[in-house]
Amino acid sequence: MPNIKCSVTECEYNSNVKCDAPMIQVEHNGVPQSKNSDQTKCETFKPKG
Ligand code: SF4
Repeated sequence: MPNIKCSVTECEYNSNVKCDAPMIQVEHNGVPQSKNSDQTKCETFKPKG
């Protein structure tokens, strides 16, 4: 897994502002084709706890 910086520290997989998951899945965010990063989302996000 390459280094992935992620500021979503409330995610279970976040460790020191980096993603520690063995893999992540990124998907379109409510659109059929993304035109900018806002139109993508990390599907692997899981709340801590
Ligand atoms: S799973 Fe997604 S949201 Fe969670 S730390 Fe990794 S990149 Fe960030």
